[in-house]
Amino acid sequence: MPSESCSALVLRKTKLGETDLIVTMLSQDGSLIRAVAKGARKPGSRFGARLEPASAVDLLVATGHSLGIIQEVRCTITNEGCRVDLEHETGASVMLEALSKIAQEGDPLPRLYDLSVTALRALREAPVASIPLVTATHLLKAVSMVGFRPSLGACVRCGGSTRHDGAGSLDTQVSFSFSDGGCVCDDCRDTGDAIAIDRGVVDWIALLISSRFEDLPGFDVDPSLGLELLGFARTWLLVQLDIKLKSLAFMTDCGLY
Ligand SMILES: [Zn+2]
Repeated sequence: MPSESCSALVLRKTKLGETDLIVTMLSQDGSLIRAVAKGARKPGSRFGARLEPASAVDLLVATGHSLGIIQEVRCTITNEGCRVDLEHETGASVMLEALSKIAQEGDPLPRLYDLSVTALRALREAPVASIPLVTATHLLKAVSMVGFRPSLGACVRCGGSTRHDGAGSLDTQVSFSFSDGGCVCDDCRDTGDAIAIDRGVVDWIALLISSRFEDLPGFDVDPSLGLELLGFARTWLLVQLDIKLKSLAFMTDCGLY
């Protein structure tokens, strides 16, 4: 039987039959892959502990079936710090669920894999108060990478000047349309479904999309801002990509942070 080796990030495990698992992963090329781990739920299975969500793994997969069969697995990054408490686990589950919906089978997005490995490292090292910010940054960067970057400069509808990029730039509120995909000018504000967003939030979105995860610990950020940015990401994913994340709804509403 032909087989292929690959590196991947484990996103989700689903039960199959009595003792097997279907493992959903983000391949190193950024595409979504699913494979069967036979006997992984049997006590003492050599697969079980090596296929935890958020782990990075090297795999040997037998192909030729509708779903590949995992033959060998070696864990290269355990990311155990992402499962150390409910707060970290919740942040990781948002990132992993988002990836399982953003990535597609047979559609490579190589930078998405590197971004996500870096984001999980930042998450496992983050103090609890910074988890919403790290999680929101991953979501904003990931959607930008796949072509859904919020437009934060000129008016997204007419190209005119907005309260964020020019005239009235001292205003504390910016008009933003989730359905149009970005900031809008005063003229377009009244003809669409724009809402007012704090200018500070829009500034942070722009900064975080262009920042590196290594820079985040240096930012002086109120913990509530992270939650506000997650709220933004939640609406953005829903309106722009038609993606609803159960774990994100839990994270923004759970009161853990
Ligand atoms: Zn306009």
